Amino acid sequence: MLIPCPWCGDREEVEFKYGGSADVMYPREPESADDAEWARFVFFRPNPKGKTTERWVHTAGCRRWFTLVRDTVTHQITPA
Ligand SMILES: [Zn+2]
Repeated sequence: MLIPCPWCGDREEVEFKYGGSADVMYPREPESADDAEWARFVFFRPNPKGKTTERWVHTAGCRRWFTLVRDTVTHQITPA
């Protein structure tokens, strides 16, 4: 799978590390977040069939983080 780094262009997947879903929001008020809210942030992840927004880092290249949209069925990637 080729992944388009915004700074380096298309590169092989082995040059990257997956950083997780970009759709998981950090608690707005972490000091007052209860256990259920922290559990949702730490353990619960979306598992869509279709487009999902993800964070990736180009570890074997420029080492920069970026966000992309990937279709989990076709693996088609589009910039976020
Ligand atoms: Zn890069």
